Parts: sequence; C-alpha cells; structure tokens
Amino acid sequence: MKIAVLTSGGDAPGMNAAIRAVVRTGIAFGHEIFGVLDGYRGLLEDNFIPLTSKDVSGMLSAGGTMLGTARVTEFKEVPVQMVAIDNLTNRGIDALIVIGGDGSYRGALALHELGFQTIGIPGTIDNDVYGTDFTIGFHTALNTIVDAIDKLRDTSSSHRRCSIIEVMGRTSGDLALYAGICGGAEFIITPENPINKDKLISTLKKHNDEGRRHAIIVVTEQQFDVHKLAAEISIKSGFSSRATVLGYIQRGGRPVAEDRILASRMGSYAVEAIMQGVSGECIGIKNDKLVTSPLADIVNHPKERGELYDLVQKIR
Ligand code: ATP
Repeated sequence: MKIAVLTSGGDAPGMNAAIRAVVRTGIAFGHEIFGVLDGYRGLLEDNFIPLTSKDVSGMLSAGGTMLGTARVTEFKEVPVQMVAIDNLTNRGIDALIVIGGDGSYRGALALHELGFQTIGIPGTIDNDVYGTDFTIGFHTALNTIVDAIDKLRDTSSSHRRCSIIEVMGRTSGDLALYAGICGGAEFIITPENPINKDKLISTLKKHNDEGRRHAIIVVTEQQFDVHKLAAEISIKSGFSSRATVLGYIQRGGRPVAEDRILASRMGSYAVEAIMQGVSGECIGIKNDKLVTSPLADIVNHPKERGELYDLVQKIR
C-alpha cells in the first residue's frame, strides 16, 4: 500500500514520534509512506515527500512536527476536499493518516465520507478529544506548566503574592486541572468548573487575613481577562497579585516519555488499522488499551469529564 501521513492544527510534542512510528511500522510491513507538508495545505498543493526509515531518525525526541502544520479554513468546502482526493489518488495513495485535534478530525471525516480511506491520531496538547483518555502532547505541556507553577510559587511565597497562571486548553480544562493538582494550586478555574469572581476574591481576602504567604490560581484561557483579575484581587483582597500567561511556551519542547510511548503506540496501531481496512475511525487509548472509535462520534461529543474533577474538590 501507499500510505500518506500529515499533521494538522496546533503542533504538539510527540507528533514527530507518531510520524516515526507510522513510517517505521509501514516500512516493516512493506508499504510506501509519504509525508504531506503543512497539513491540509499540502494535500491541496500536492506537496508530498517520500519518507524512509532514515528520514525519521532522531525524530522520537524532537518537538514540533517535521512535516509542518497549518490551519486551512477553506478545507471545510467539499470542492476543496475533492482537490485533495484527486491529488491523493493521482499519486496512487491508498490511505491517509491525520494527526491532529478535533478540527483536523472533521477534515479527516470529510475525506472518509467522500470515499477515501482515512483515520485519525489525536495530537493536541489540549486533551480535548472525545474517545481517548489522553492525546499526544498533553503530558509534555502539563510538565511544562507544572515546572512554571513551581517557579512562580517561589516568587509568590517570597513576596507574599497571589499568582494567576493562565494555561491553554480552549474549551477543555484538563491542562489547568492536572497542572493545578500537581502544582498545589489553591484555585483551579476551568470551563467545567467555573468560579464566581466575588467568591474567589472574598476567599483570598480570608486567606490573606489568616496570614497565608501565597496563593496560586490556575485558569484555562478565555475564562477571564487575567490581568484585570489580578488588578482586582490586588485592590480587594490585600494580596498583591500578578498574572502570567504561559502562551506558546506550552506547545514546544521535547516530548516527555509518556508522549513518546503514546505516539509510538498510536502511530504503529494506525498503520495496522489501515491494513485491516479501517476508515473513518480515530485511534484512542482507554484504560491503557488502544481502541478505535468512529470519527463521526468523536467530532460530535465533548471530551468526557474525568474523575480528577471530583478529586480536586476533596484535596484542595
Ligand atoms: P488543536 O486542538 O491543536 O487546535 P485542531 O485540529 O482542533 O487542533 P483546528 O484549527 O480546529 O485545529 O483544525 C485544523 C484544521 O482542520 C483546520 O485548519 C481545517 O483545515 C481543518 N478543519 C477544521 N474544521 C473542519 C471542518 N468542519 N471540515 C473540514 N476541515 C476542517
């Protein structure tokens, strides 16, 4: 078979490890593997490169994505998707593996519905994909955030401050939740667990009056204007407060061991699924077992709410 692989949406540490696993497994089974450059853009511009085992050497530990990624708005239109299918079929490619988040999955589902064998691998730091316990890149981003919280705590404690740390995640609070638990945050504010601002400030005031030396608040992006929130906390609670927006630093870096293993398992499994004729499905991991689920289900369901959301109420 000829199998193509692309990365799409936001880059995530471990995408390269997944590409490597696709290439090495594919070649081991006697297939030809092609990389598509810059996500769906490369499909439209017929930008493919053959990939050998040697091409992916050293990629296991490299952050970002060696194939490049892009956001291609026009890929939502059927005539545009047809161009992609023409380019794939003209090259004799039999199947496509899309590594990305739920937006990328909508593109993959569209290609499947147009008759092209396509499957997805979840690659996004947000961990916001239904049908899998973890996405590739989540654990690396989590470690980066925990490291930042530990450092900010030192300064907060020394200066008797309240630190607000805004993390990524879009509509999913997993990064804030996991990082908040690991970093011992006093407050974790996520789309799943929003918080009343007045209650937050009055609790902080109480903590300040009790003589606590610091407070850490971890918040998912788009919940608050964190700089304004810090100013309000400073005025009303007695804690001097600063906000830190971690931003793109969370997306980079060498993948941690969990992401290298997850990516290797998923990449390899994706090739085996393709060989069995699977299409319109996505690879996931559930209770440490690799599974596939229909893309149509995944794009229509929000990510399940894990038990850590309950844990945080108990150990805060
Ligand atoms: P991340 O979670 O890291 O942001 P993502 O895959 O969710 O990753 P998006 O920007 O939502 O990122 O989507 C990536 C690309 O997938 C889009 O730029 C577009 O090319 C394609 N895509 C998104 N939605 C659709 C859709 N409804 N139909 C076809 N293609 C889509």
